Amino acid sequence: MFNVLEPQVCFQEVPNEIALGFVCTGCQLGCKGCHSPQSWNANLGTPLTQTVFAGWLRRYEGLITCVVFFGGEWQEHRLLPLLRYAQSQGLKTCLYTGLDYVSEQLKNELTYLKTGRYIQSLGGLGQHSTNQKFIDVASGQLLNSYFIKG
Ligand code: SF4
Repeated sequence: MFNVLEPQVCFQEVPNEIALGFVCTGCQLGCKGCHSPQSWNANLGTPLTQTVFAGWLRRYEGLITCVVFFGGEWQEHRLLPLLRYAQSQGLKTCLYTGLDYVSEQLKNELTYLKTGRYIQSLGGLGQHSTNQKFIDVASGQLLNSYFIKG
C-alpha cells in the first residue's frame, strides 16, 4: 500500500520552487517531536496510483514547478515510477526522508533531497545546528542556507 494525504501546494519546502507536496503515510522512524505523528498510520490517506497521481498533476498543470514527497522511500518500487512520471511532465522532484542515505536509483530520479531524521535538540532545516541536509542532487550542493531566516 502507498497511501498519501491530500496533496498541498508548498512554497517553503523546496527553495525557489512551487511544489505539490504529498505526505506518504506509514513512516516508521518515530522521531520524537515529529511534526506529523498522525501520518505514521499507514492506513490513513488514500492510495496514490499512477492514474491518481497523473490526475493531480493535470489539475495543477502550469501552477507548480516541482513535486515533493514527504517519505515514501520505504516503498521505493512504487515511488520511482511516480518520480519518473513527474519528470516526464517537466517537473522537478524532491524527497524528504528521515534516513541519512537513499539508493542511487532513487537519487537518479530526484532534483532535490532532504535527509536526516528530526532530532529535537538539533532542530530542523531552519537551524544552524541541524543534522538534516537539503541538497541539489546533481551538484551535491548543500542548500540549507535557504531555510535559515535572519
Ligand atoms: S522521519 Fe519525518 S515523518 Fe518520520 S517520524 Fe521523523 S519527523 Fe516524523
